[in-house]
Amino acid sequence: SEAPPPERPPDQRHTGKQKHSLWAEDEMEAANTAEDLQLLELIGQGRYGTVFRGSLNERCVAVKLFSSANRQSFTNERSIYGLPLLQLHDNIARFLAADERTNAEGRAEFLILMEYYPHGCLSSYLSHHTVDWSTCCRMTHGVTRGLAFLHTELHRAGESKPGVAHRDVSSRNVLLRSDLSCVLADFGLSMALTGSRPPRPGDPDTMAISEVGTVRYMAPEVLGGALDLRDCASALKQVDVYALGLLYWESFRRCSQLFTGEAVPEHQLAFQAELGNHPSFQEMQILVNRNKFRPRFPESWRSSSPALSSLMETMEDCWDPDAEARLTAQCAEERLCDLTLHSHRIGPPPVGPASSQDLGVV
Ligand code: ADP
Ligand code: MG
Ligand code: MG
Repeated sequence: SEAPPPERPPDQRHTGKQKHSLWAEDEMEAANTAEDLQLLELIGQGRYGTVFRGSLNERCVAVKLFSSANRQSFTNERSIYGLPLLQLHDNIARFLAADERTNAEGRAEFLILMEYYPHGCLSSYLSHHTVDWSTCCRMTHGVTRGLAFLHTELHRAGESKPGVAHRDVSSRNVLLRSDLSCVLADFGLSMALTGSRPPRPGDPDTMAISEVGTVRYMAPEVLGGALDLRDCASALKQVDVYALGLLYWESFRRCSQLFTGEAVPEHQLAFQAELGNHPSFQEMQILVNRNKFRPRFPESWRSSSPALSSLMETMEDCWDPDAEARLTAQCAEERLCDLTLHSHRIGPPPVGPASSQDLGVV
């Protein structure tokens, strides 16, 4: 795993004095946040935040704690969660409050309080569980709905949400509710694309625009330094869809019904088989950009049903080397919706010798 091992959870009540109350829902009076919040258990460690299961007035919450070095990431994530209409969607993580306080050593630290997702991230769920076909369709469809919504500019009841690029789509940034429905989370690198001032190629932070995200999930044009910023909004959405294709591959590789008569392979992150746990930018550049390598499909998927062929085609259309040829998130959403409906009618696609025999297929 790329995440460091969990540390001992801090079981003491945080008594740090808060400097400002930055933002909160009505029910979560920010004035009380720092006083009444207890951090109970370390549940996640990303590049920017340390995430705890906590309790606030008896309510179970997740707390993403940023050190002062990661202030930028905090500020950005808070401003994305604060965009109008964003919280209306079922496949976007629930934000509760943001806060700033001073820790025991006198340093500023920043908190984002959010709903606690008991199954954690998609990647850790897939590493411990296989999923059946309809669950896998539902999970990937949910992530895709969330991304399509995020990308879309929306005007409703006098409020406007700009289109937003996520810029760090991965199976670690998708969280699971107890019913296994999925939400998109971790907006630390996200960027509003429309509205007052969309980013332009001449901007001083063009480098920052083109080189963020998790190396493993970086699109070939990002790795090759050829991100086309003339239409920045489309380019960044295409980068998100590339990573979405990898996320589909990781998910369906753990689908029990796609491996009848053979063992379901262990969970692997994209390119883990080829480059291991800590691929470098340069290794990724050679593999994905220069050699145009993409995750391999299991052998038994090759000669199978139309549903599975269409799924593989959808993945390939997401990770196409030509960014402009990729599906939009909206289009990917329609494809997965069809797949889900199809499986309701005729069940999962038959795969492997066992299921072919059962169905009398030669
Ligand atoms: P970073 O920006 O540092 O990557 P994330 O927001 O992605 O931080 O959180 C890191 C990890 O913590 C996630 O991959 C997930 O495993 C866990 N996590 C984050 N938020 C929650 C939550 N609300 N409920 C449960 N687990 C969470
Ligand atoms: Mg993350
Ligand atoms: Mg992040």
